[in-house]
Amino acid sequence: MERENCVARDAQDPLASVRERFDLPAGVYLAGHSLGPAAAAVATRTAAAVRQWQQRGVRGWSEGWLDLAPRCASRLARLVGADVGEVAVADSTSVNLFKVLGAAVCLRPGRHVILTETGNFPTDRYVAEGLARLAANGTGSAPLEVRAVPADRLADSLDGDVAVLALTHVDYQTGRRHGAEALTDAAHAAGALVVWDLAHSTGAVPVDLHAWDADLAVGCSYKYLGGGPGAPAYLFAARALHADLDNPVAGWFGHADPFAFDAAYRPAADAGRFATGTPPLLSLAALDAALEVWDGLDLAQVWDKVAALGELFVSLVDERCADLDVAVASPRSPAQRGAQVSLRAPHAGAVMQALADRGVIGDSRPPDVLRFGLTPLTTCYADVWDAVEQLRSVLAELAWDDPRYRRPPPVP
Ligand SMILES: *Cc1c(COP(=O)(O)O)cnc(C)c1O
Repeated sequence: MERENCVARDAQDPLASVRERFDLPAGVYLAGHSLGPAAAAVATRTAAAVRQWQQRGVRGWSEGWLDLAPRCASRLARLVGADVGEVAVADSTSVNLFKVLGAAVCLRPGRHVILTETGNFPTDRYVAEGLARLAANGTGSAPLEVRAVPADRLADSLDGDVAVLALTHVDYQTGRRHGAEALTDAAHAAGALVVWDLAHSTGAVPVDLHAWDADLAVGCSYKYLGGGPGAPAYLFAARALHADLDNPVAGWFGHADPFAFDAAYRPAADAGRFATGTPPLLSLAALDAALEVWDGLDLAQVWDKVAALGELFVSLVDERCADLDVAVASPRSPAQRGAQVSLRAPHAGAVMQALADRGVIGDSRPPDVLRFGLTPLTTCYADVWDAVEQLRSVLAELAWDDPRYRRPPPVP
């Protein structure tokens, strides 16, 4: 294959013009799995929000600010196959996970296990373990236990003690995608609830929480959704559970009528009960502008492009890097992969820094993983060609073996 083939594919890409709605960093930006690029509208919308704050002060809250979180939630609902009212936008993914896990375990009294997988993202483990310590109340007894097993042992581990199966849908290291429907079914058959972490899924692959029969989910909006660094996260709660879900970080913004200043807590009827405190208005303005780009897009086209970009990346690595010390670490089937392609290469941190100096921005994870996020709205086929070409030359020329690249890679 030649670069011209990729340029020709770009010319026929029905989503090609969407890229023009972004302000992209120079070079080939393949780090959208970590921090999505900025939509051009973000700058104007956040500036307008600041101006409203300057000119209207506190009156802003009654002049549209309070509509922003629900508006973001309804835009997200479409992307995850949920109804408006089942999605709330608030806090960080980690905090939301604490809230929905806490609510979920309370729906399964008599069961004491949160089951997860050993390779889950660290924050998911930390949050679950923190909840278990809190539930133990310093007594030393363990009313809650976090049990982590390898992915291929999950189905067998769903015994009568499991209250909640808590999994990340797309693995942050390898990009492997779980079969969400089958795992949800297995958990339900065992009497457990399921909490899905969609951090690497929403905006990357099809998510259909209704079709999955999902109970609860959380997700991150600064990765594939481009909400901006530290953008407010979201959560999903299935309507059938609403009345019984008790937010363990109950706060006034989750009250049915926050401005009644009621002494008694009365939760909102829908997923809004998982809100806690005052929404971060400036960040929400950015998120809303970012999500607006998704309005009206044909999602089937988006998912087709994710699969095509990934297949191109994998086949170019196979073809052009065959004799080099690098291997595809992601599943080869697009249906089993997210929108990231991971490779394994020795000295991955140094390789990625050498790539960055050549204008290719991805990231690395210790000890040997290179990650390339193929954000469908901003990545073009020629980007994939250029990234693999630079990778080939960095490896072939041993360009990574330079004292400059021996320092640890910059975080995150
Ligand atoms: C990125 C990521 C998060 C992010 O959590 P924050 O609270 O926003 O820092 C959570 N879970 C997974 C699986 C992630 O990949």
